[in-house]
Amino acid sequence: MLFESEIVNAIRSVLPEARPIALHEPDFSNTLAKEYVSQCLDSGWVSASGHWLDRFEQELGKITGAKHVIAVTNGTVALRLALHMLDVSYGDEVLMPSLSFVATANAASHLGAIPHFIDIDQSTLGMDPIALTNRLKQIGERRNNSLWNKETGRKIKAILAVHIFGHPAKVDELKVISEEFGIPLLEDSAEALGSFRSQIHCGRFGKFGTLSFNGNKIITTGGGGAVLTENDELAQKTRHIATTAKLFHPWEFEHDAVGWNDRLPSLNAALGVSQLEVIHQQLQNKKELKNKYKDALKHIKGIEIVESPRDCLSNNWLVTLRFTNQSLHRAGEERLKVLKKSHEEGLLLRPVWRPLHELTMYSSNPNSDLSETKNQSMRLLNLPSSPQLLQR
Ligand SMILES: *Cc1c(COP(=O)(O)O)cnc(C)c1O
Repeated sequence: MLFESEIVNAIRSVLPEARPIALHEPDFSNTLAKEYVSQCLDSGWVSASGHWLDRFEQELGKITGAKHVIAVTNGTVALRLALHMLDVSYGDEVLMPSLSFVATANAASHLGAIPHFIDIDQSTLGMDPIALTNRLKQIGERRNNSLWNKETGRKIKAILAVHIFGHPAKVDELKVISEEFGIPLLEDSAEALGSFRSQIHCGRFGKFGTLSFNGNKIITTGGGGAVLTENDELAQKTRHIATTAKLFHPWEFEHDAVGWNDRLPSLNAALGVSQLEVIHQQLQNKKELKNKYKDALKHIKGIEIVESPRDCLSNNWLVTLRFTNQSLHRAGEERLKVLKKSHEEGLLLRPVWRPLHELTMYSSNPNSDLSETKNQSMRLLNLPSSPQLLQR
């Protein structure tokens, strides 16, 4: 049998019959979504304050262990807000991996800042601490209490790590580097709700972590996001600036800064609460689905399923296949054949994103050597991973 047919057959054997099957879809069955949304409507508190918003933030706090949770309109906004709180602004550089969803870089660009791309490591697919240290030693210079890029003459303001597909990046090591060089660490944990490194939830290592509740993520609020922080003062300021910087007064309109209108509407939060109530079951289903894929594919040479390193717990947001052929070119060809074949059969597999430094608007940004990014970006393919696909 052809290599691609063998792989697609094995994938099909795990999945239900109905077609097409998308990469990741929301599931509101077995939740109280309709009741909660309806209660929210009846209360009249549908906008950015009220019972459901408070409750959603509290529940997220319980799951992540984060001291402060500030729910906002989406994951991109959460990142932009967190970067702004760390004083990232026009002309500053932010270090980040090139292998991420475009929103990671866009959030920095929305503030006028410049994404500076750092290579990834193969085991976590996240930013490589060694590549980061080498790059900072090569271009970094401490002057007037700031870290400067000697080559571009710009300030380097933050390190933005990303937890790809739910696999925890090496944020413990990245945090040590961030302290050594005196710039804050942030974590884009949009894909990592329910993922832990050394029993600590992703998004709690840096000054800020962010989450996304877009329709394709682990849980959804329709659209939504959150900022996590352990710092009381930063949390208070973040809430303030995300709420038009309005000072409390029974009737006066007093604002003390140029704020944003970033808060998540309660209507969306009600949907979120209903999803959080079943998240443990969803995570369990996702784990079982991944194990089924592993079992079905284990006898096929030239591929493997990406696993998190030891001491990490992945939420298995997307199950990722890696083509291991020594030749990168051959691996890329094999991946394309599997993509074509699977789409013919209504299985909507997707390759990993095109690396950000290859996109027009980011093609002339500063970067470290990106050889592992280029290597992995040709080898990775994501399988349909919605928890409701699990067949018992
Ligand atoms: C989804 C996602 C975002 C953006 O979240 P939205 O809620 O869609 O704005 C940011 N970063 C990563 C890595 C994501 O996967």
